[in-house]
Formats: sequence, structure tokens, C-alpha cells
Amino acid sequence: GGEAQSAPAEARERHAELAELIENANWRYYVLDSPTVSDAEYDGWMREILALEEAHPDLRTPDSPTQKVGAPISTEFAPVTHLQRLESLDNAFNDADLAGWQARAERLIEADPGPYLCELKIDGLAVALVYEKGRLVRGATRGDGRTGDDITPNIRTLGDVPHRLNGDDVPDLLEVRGEVFLPVEGFKKLNEQLMDAGKPPFANPRNSAAGSLRQKDPRVTAQRPLRMIVHGVGKWEGGGPLPATQSAVYERLRDFGLPVSDRYKVVESLDEIREFISYYNDHRHDPEYEIDGVVVKVDRIPVQRQLGSTSRAPRWAIAFKYPPEEVTTKLLDIQVGV
Ligand code: NAD
Repeated sequence: GGEAQSAPAEARERHAELAELIENANWRYYVLDSPTVSDAEYDGWMREILALEEAHPDLRTPDSPTQKVGAPISTEFAPVTHLQRLESLDNAFNDADLAGWQARAERLIEADPGPYLCELKIDGLAVALVYEKGRLVRGATRGDGRTGDDITPNIRTLGDVPHRLNGDDVPDLLEVRGEVFLPVEGFKKLNEQLMDAGKPPFANPRNSAAGSLRQKDPRVTAQRPLRMIVHGVGKWEGGGPLPATQSAVYERLRDFGLPVSDRYKVVESLDEIREFISYYNDHRHDPEYEIDGVVVKVDRIPVQRQLGSTSRAPRWAIAFKYPPEEVTTKLLDIQVGV
């Protein structure tokens, strides 16, 4: 192969600038639960830095924000090493990105990767729950994917989270992943209460969920109407065998008493994926929680394993992100019109 060309100074400077903007936003978002830029702006930086690295691969160093998940954990909780790394998701912002993801998967396995499981991308925070012989022994945040915050007492306050699983053939060791969120109504009420008490409100439901869950005092968490939906499995050892598809896994988890979404759908083709995405684009506010897109996963677990992961995200899944809802812009337009 040819010698890789090193990036020109201009690209190098912009890369460093973007990396700093992103690291700083990560800290505010993941550690302080208090972002100062919109997700759309953040995603724009991320796309720009990815494009720079595509053009100049020598910029793609292991410490680049494109190679990492989340942010380092806070010092307020005990660190927990996850049984299995928790990943992020690659994004698709348009139909070409989505079709490109599907085509790449097909090329890699030299076969049709379908069927696909389509589900909603809940705007909450990722947690991992560990069950030993059906008993909840630990709950932790995603953190940087390898190590998270131990929030077991807080997790135990969630009504959706069973302390014991149902059934005789539960795995001896089970790690499930899911999203903890505040329903939109609960978020609004919480912000009213905070403002009445003279405290600063949360920027959005995602940050209110993160702030409510990562409380030193679990009694505060217990007063927040947090919910959870499970969307993956990290470890499944002993007991009945791991089912062969993501959707069958979900139905087993539902049998165990874990909270699983009613809104997922298994489809055969790219066109049906498009239909699901388009349906929820038009029905974005039907669910009681905020969504920022749709997650598409290869349904068959052996095919997931064949496709594997990059340094930060699985190749067998993609997050289709909806465009931001321009609430503030509309408000500003009205004010300008006055
Ligand atoms: P992500 O939110 O793009 O996607 C990965 C996450 O999606 C998973 O960890 C999981 O928690 C979640 N998820 C929700 N529903 C899911 C489902 N059904 N199946 C699987 N996973 C599901 O990735 P990320 O790495 O957590 O964060 C990056 C995003 O966070 C950015 O794109 C941006 O929107 C936001 N962010 C914003 C700021 C800011 O300052 N505004 C800073 C950092 C991150």
C-alpha cells in the first residue's frame, strides 16, 4: 500500500479544536447532566470530525472523541467494571446513511442480514443491570463503556425494575441493558417543582433522568417518576439457552418480568425499515417518553456476532436520528413577529 499522507496544519488545528469542543460538551452532558449546546450542534461537530478523520486517517488517534464512548465516570459513586463493554451506536441522518449501513452489512457477511428489529431510540440514559440466579445484585451507568457508576440503591427504587426475576429457567448470570427515562409529563412536573423551590430546571427529559438517577441519596431518586425499558443483553450464562433472535430475547426478558417495549417491530426489508422510521417521524409524540430516532438492529444473534463491533459501536445496529424539533426557533419567530 501507499504511504499515508499526514494531515495539513489547517485540518490538524480544526481537528484539535473540535476535539476540545466535544470533550467539553461530553463533560457537561455526561458528568454534570447540564449541557450548554444542543444535540444537533453536537452531532454537527461529530460529523465534521468524522469527515476530517476520513480524509486524514492519521488524525484518528486512540484518544480522539470518535473512538470513545461517553465520558469518564464521576468521583461521587463507586466504579463498576461492566461484565461486557457497553457500546454506543453509529448514526444515520438520512436515507443514504441508512442504505449504506445495510449494504455494508450485506457485503461483510455476503448474505442478506435481515430480518431487522426496529425500535424507538429513547432519549434517556443507558444502564446495565446484573441478576445472579434471578436476583438483582447491581445497577450501573454506562460511563465510558467499560466502567460505570455503581447506582444499585438508586436503581432499586424504580418500580419497573424487578428485584427478582420470574420463572425456573432464568440464567445464572444475566446482564441486561436498557434506558432509564422520565416520561415527558414527569419531566414537566419535576421542572415546575424545581423552579418553585428556586432551583435551576433541567434542560430536557434526558438530563432530568440522568440527574435524578445519579443522586447521592436514593430517597431523592425514589421521588422521581423514573421508568425503564430494556433493549439488550450483555451476559447470559446458565439457565435456559440464549434465544436465537433479538426479538425472542426480548420476549424471554418480558417473561422474566423485565420492562420491554411494546413498540418494536421485526421487518424483512430496507423498505419496511423506512416505513417504520416514517411512521414514528409522524407520530413522534405518541409515546409517553421523548425519542430522538429509531434504532435498527439485525434480529438474528448469530448474524450480529458475525458482524461484530468497531471500537465504539456494533456494526449490526444503527441509530436513525430524526431532525431536531425547532421549538426555540419557532418561539423566536413569534417574538420577532410581535
Ligand atoms: P447515542 O445516544 O447516539 O446512542 C447510543 C445510546 O442509545 C445507547 O447507549 C443507549 O443508551 C441509547 N438507546 C436508546 N434507545 C435504544 C434502543 N432502543 N436500543 C439501543 N440503544 C438505545 O449515543 P451516546 O454515545 O450515548 O451519545 C451521543 C449522543 O448524545 C449525541 O449524538 C448527542 O445527541 C448526545 N450528546 C449531546 C451532548 C450535548 O452537549 N448536547 C453531549 C454529548 C452527547
